[in-house]
Amino acid sequence: MTESSALSAVPSSARDAVLKFYFGPMDCGKSTLALQMNYNHGRQGRRGLVLTKHDRSGGPKVTSRIGLGLEAIEVDDSLDLVRLVTGLHDRVDYLICDEACFYTVEQIEQLADLVDEHGVDVYAFGLASDFRSVMFPAAQRLFELADEVCRLQVEVLCWCGRPGQLNARVVGGSMVRTGEQVVIGDTDASPVRYQVLCRRHHRAGLLGEGSSHWPA
Ligand SMILES: [Zn+2]
Repeated sequence: MTESSALSAVPSSARDAVLKFYFGPMDCGKSTLALQMNYNHGRQGRRGLVLTKHDRSGGPKVTSRIGLGLEAIEVDDSLDLVRLVTGLHDRVDYLICDEACFYTVEQIEQLADLVDEHGVDVYAFGLASDFRSVMFPAAQRLFELADEVCRLQVEVLCWCGRPGQLNARVVGGSMVRTGEQVVIGDTDASPVRYQVLCRRHHRAGLLGEGSSHWPA
């Protein structure tokens, strides 16, 4: 006997692929979760690709602050993600898209196409907003299109002890509110660093005691 419902003509065996967006400030464990998710799906025999853009390592890798790392495909602005997946010999069950906030809006549309037209699960990870607390265009599109959006809050705290929500850009010890949306920081070569603040202190521009010292 086949299951049926008066409310739905959709076969119960149908399972749509999903587009999920996990967002949070720096250091909240996004890349760690991305790598964990890839590991879990791989163990179930599913085949996936791991993509990233502007990873902290500076290379085509997903690395997490706690020291995990994995080779990944670097997404540049001209990469067509549908072509990337459909051009492969092997079936692709899922994509892990780290730093998805830095993708183009068109690439987010391509991710939705992969979900709807090709049955690929897409797990996207990234920041929601930039150093001004303004949403990244790609993150905004993910909020609009995703089946599920999850805020990650892995004990990243503002200096005051409140949950860290927003990234401040710090140049020469001061918080700045103007400039390019994407500037790579927190590297030896960069004068820019980022600091996670609560909303209150992001809006007030207060970096807290001792923040004029550079981290060792
Ligand atoms: Zn605070």
